[in-house]
Amino acid sequence: MLEPHYWSQLKFLSGAMCQRCGTPFEIVVDPDQWCGACMASPPVYHRARAALEYGDVSRQIVLALKHSGRRDGLPTIAAWMTTAAQELVQDADMLAPVPLHYFRLVRRGFNQSVWLAAALGRRIDKPVYVDILHRRRHTPIQGGLSADARRRNVAGAFRVPERYRKRIEGKTILLVDDVLTTGATVQACARALKSGGAASIDVVTLARVAGPRSVPI
Ligand SMILES: [Zn+2]
Repeated sequence: MLEPHYWSQLKFLSGAMCQRCGTPFEIVVDPDQWCGACMASPPVYHRARAALEYGDVSRQIVLALKHSGRRDGLPTIAAWMTTAAQELVQDADMLAPVPLHYFRLVRRGFNQSVWLAAALGRRIDKPVYVDILHRRRHTPIQGGLSADARRRNVAGAFRVPERYRKRIEGKTILLVDDVLTTGATVQACARALKSGGAASIDVVTLARVAGPRSVPI
């Protein structure tokens, strides 16, 4: 999955970026800069970071995780995510993967975000809670939907079960997912965790689409 000859083709996101959503910038004017979308409408989460720009090669890595269930590259991926999200990793009290709906989990047999969170948790020695977020609706797959449709699709889809509220109260939670596209899913997760009592939510993904975050209307 992570043959070294591919590495030169991967685009690691380490340059100038929006300090909130992590959108890469062409040039940096001020290191604390926010992108236009975040200034117009700050995201529910505090910061989002990704190891790689989503492209042809990083897509192969994501698909190998999601569809072939390849786990051999996880320690390397966890190292990349740690580098990309250093401050977020330090600040996190706990990690939580973006959940799949039960039906999809049963069909696929695994949740690749759980694997990513587990590998990252092992590397940084922080607890991973796989069940503090529940997906209560079986939402259609996001691929192919517009930004607005994605937002409607996942709005209200997540909740924190009553019994976990004490555990997340006042905590900083690092949400883990494979790809950040429009951010609609992590926004919905962050909203649920905040209403469940968490103090702050950060997001780390393996890859992200490089375009600017869409602004909710
Ligand atoms: Zn931004």
